[in-house]
Parts: sequence; C-alpha cells; structure tokens
Amino acid sequence: MNLEIFNGVMIFIVGLIFGSFYNVVGYRLPNNMSIVFPASHCTNCKHKLKFYELIPVISYIFLGGKCKVCKERISIFYPFFELLTGILFLLSYLKFGLTLEFLIAITFISVLIIISISDVKYFIIPDEVLIVGTLLIIVELIANVVVNNISVFNGLVMPILNGLGAFAILYLFKALGDLIFKTESLGGGDIKLLFFIGLVLGFDMSIVTIFIASFIALPLSIVSLIKNNNNILPFGPYLSVAATIIMLTGLNLNMILNFFTK
Ligand SMILES: [Zn+2]
Repeated sequence: MNLEIFNGVMIFIVGLIFGSFYNVVGYRLPNNMSIVFPASHCTNCKHKLKFYELIPVISYIFLGGKCKVCKERISIFYPFFELLTGILFLLSYLKFGLTLEFLIAITFISVLIIISISDVKYFIIPDEVLIVGTLLIIVELIANVVVNNISVFNGLVMPILNGLGAFAILYLFKALGDLIFKTESLGGGDIKLLFFIGLVLGFDMSIVTIFIASFIALPLSIVSLIKNNNNILPFGPYLSVAATIIMLTGLNLNMILNFFTK
C-alpha cells in the first residue's frame, strides 16, 4: 500500500480514538469529574462499558445508538465528535504532511473540539483545556524556532503578542456589548479562547475568525430567539468552526484583500 494512504488511514484512526477521549474530557471536566475514573459507563444505568462497546463510531452503529443493558439512547454527539476529530486529523495531514505544522494544527483543532463539546453541553469553556493547549503550542513553537532556524522574536514573541492583541480586541468588544445591551454579551471563556486563536492564527486572522463566527452565528441566533424566546448561544463552537476553516484552508489577509479589490 502507498505510504501516504497508509499514513492517512492510521492518522484517521488515531483521530477517532482521540475524539473518543475528547468526548470524555469535554463532558467530565466542567463537572469537576476525573477524566480517568470512573471508567466509561452508561450515564443512565451505570453499566460499565466493555471494550467492544468503546470502539469509536463502530460501537454506536452496532448498538443501534442504545445502551446494551437499559436501552437508553446514546447521544449522537459522541460518534459525531469522534468522526469529526478523525476527519480533521486526516485533513490536517493532507494539508501539512508529517511536519511540525501538522502537530500544531492537530493540537489547535483538538483544543477547539474539546471546548466546543463543553460549550455546547454546559456553556463553559474550561480554563484547563486552554492552559494545556497553550503550553503545548508554545513547546511546538519553540521546536519550530530550533528546527527551522527562525528568530525567537518571529517564532515565539510575535505569536504571543498576537494572542494578547486578539484577547484585548474581544475584551473591548465585550465591554462595549455589555454597555449597549446592559447584560453579559460574551462569556469570559470566549475572550480567553481568542488569545489561543491569536497565538496560532495571528492577530489579523483572529479578527477574521470573529467576523466569520458572527456571520455563522447570527442566523442561528435569530432562529433560537424565535423558537426558544432567548438568544443565549454558546459562541465558542462558532469561533472554533471559523478558526478550523482558516487553519485548514490557509486563508490569509492577502487572499481576502485580493478578493475584494479585484
Ligand atoms: Zn444503560
């Protein structure tokens, strides 16, 4: 078998397994539950899952989306995020090959997936995930400086300044929003998330991330307002979708400026 296809298949499978772990982290961390104990179980009847009930996506299909013991429905979110992680790992490999950039891409995407799971379920973006993710990215940036002989300023100081700049911009947005709407307009987690996005994508593209995320969230926010009579929407997943699109397409400011000035 062609090596590239073999690598792609392996990375996809690793992504499925990681995705299964991210489900556990995203669901348990905001509840202050250990991510190791207890072992995976049915949340309804506490039945401890056997190894063949823990195979990403496949178990869900073979169990018909139900607990084997009590027949309680298992959320479609689990296989969805497993499959999503597998696909995004594969796309990262196809874009970057086996490089440091690939490692940065999958670290970035992994953090975005975990916080999206938490934000959708609990409206919480866990600090722990952002802290661990930031530390991993900084280690990878240092490796990049060493391996590719980049200056410390360009390879490490600039990304951190970019993160701080993105954080500051969204902080101002929030202060302004709170003033206008006389209510909490954005969560603190969203602002901290912008530091992480700025660190990896750069200052300009983190601003583009906010625009794309708002563009996707606005129509859904209106639907939610009409259906549920509230416009509380977790913004983290929209920022995550926008940031992932930018990471995997390599969209940059020059491309956008060229598009609008042609
Ligand atoms: Zn059960």
